[in-house]
Amino acid sequence: MTFKLNGDSALFLELITVYLCTLSFESVKTEKANEQAVSNKKFFIETYGCQMNFSDSEIVASILEKEGFTGTKELKDADLIFINTCSIRDHAEQRIRKRLDFMKSLKRKNPNLVVGMLGCMAERLKTQLLEEEQVLDLIAGPDSYRDLPKLITDVESGHKAINTILSLDETYADVSPVRYDSNGISAFISIMRGCENYCAYCVVPYVRGQERSRDVTSIVKEAGSLFQSGFREVTLLGQNVNSYEWIEGGVKTSFAGLLEKIAGINPLLRIRFATSHPKDLSDELLKTMADHQNICKAIHLPVQSGSSFILDHMNRKYTREKYLDRIAAIRHYIPECSISTDIIAGFCDESEEDHKETLSLMEQVEFDYAFMFRYSERPDTLAAEQYQDNVPDEVKDRRLREIIDLQQKLSWQSNKKDVSKIFEVLIEGYSKRSRDYFSGRNSQNKVVLFPVTGNKIGEYVRVKIIRFTSATLIGEVHEDDCNK
Ligand code: SF4
Repeated sequence: MTFKLNGDSALFLELITVYLCTLSFESVKTEKANEQAVSNKKFFIETYGCQMNFSDSEIVASILEKEGFTGTKELKDADLIFINTCSIRDHAEQRIRKRLDFMKSLKRKNPNLVVGMLGCMAERLKTQLLEEEQVLDLIAGPDSYRDLPKLITDVESGHKAINTILSLDETYADVSPVRYDSNGISAFISIMRGCENYCAYCVVPYVRGQERSRDVTSIVKEAGSLFQSGFREVTLLGQNVNSYEWIEGGVKTSFAGLLEKIAGINPLLRIRFATSHPKDLSDELLKTMADHQNICKAIHLPVQSGSSFILDHMNRKYTREKYLDRIAAIRHYIPECSISTDIIAGFCDESEEDHKETLSLMEQVEFDYAFMFRYSERPDTLAAEQYQDNVPDEVKDRRLREIIDLQQKLSWQSNKKDVSKIFEVLIEGYSKRSRDYFSGRNSQNKVVLFPVTGNKIGEYVRVKIIRFTSATLIGEVHEDDCNK
């Protein structure tokens, strides 16, 4: 079995050596064995859901490595398997349940294997999961990751372990995430946690708790050290980044202020963010984006529906008109900005007229791309408690199909407009289909493929677009001197 010590573990073994003369041989042997037992243990994290969950998995990896555990990318080598889960749709939970069936077969082969569930599904179902899924040894909600080493010890002493307490102030600000699954170019930085918007269909406020912002200094420091270690793009994450606010010594930093500070680290560090809420998208933020070349010109602004009646029913706190007003503001301050969105088809009481309003809003905005879903009722939400899920499945499916078809047309038109334009592209790696092509993204967050040149991954190049599909732009290098 391979054996790797991290810095803390190595120091501990050194201390054991120093104090050897005062300890009996047997006790040293026992301590050493315990230390090695932890250090030998390998963990594997499987992550589902949103970028926030991927960012959380990096925090979990950091906490475990600090305790002497070692990460592995091979499931078969793992002593501990953690599944970081998503609850946003029933389909996501069913997928995870199926995955647990597979974990049972692993546990039959290795009865000492520890299987833990993290994230939103763990928080939502708590002890019910331990009863329903015997394969699980451990449950930890999104605010309990610092407690994982103790929970693992509890499991090793023969108990099932659970912590799903939500916190008012946990932001893991002092934890340096381990970028264990990174391309070395782009990284996520979590800037806030929780949500208090209580959209009628959404489970997030119940499983991720109250909204809290992370210390501005720790965010800027993390972005700076990522740049120093070669990263060229950071994506700032939160459920509603526009409401970020940090007050210290009487000085308030808004989200626009935070962006400005990170933009000042180095012009070669690109900044993206997700997700914005239309009710909080300020002109101040748009002006800041326009003023800094390295703040990417892409906004993901979930609309969910084009009908003011449905938006009110969803408790989204804006109308169709207000949403269109924010779109006009984006076009005014940042004409080259791409705009993407989320849309739900078939929410409770949605009429044919409401659905048509969604289609007409899509046509009006001309979204560059969209994430589109049919409504799926989630337990404990306002909609589940107070409304009827009364749009028949076949109607939901047909409306979703119409929305997807329209978006494909809009994405095609959007990409067609980019032909002959020249974009600055950050090279992120090779195309999935061919190592003869580099893959990167432009400021508008569109994937751009172009033939491999003498450039390196992590560099910027100017690419002229020559053709496209509805998902990708394809071009050739125009100049490659934009890395200074
Ligand atoms: S803003 Fe609404 S949809 Fe987004 S996480 Fe909060 S409650 Fe859910």
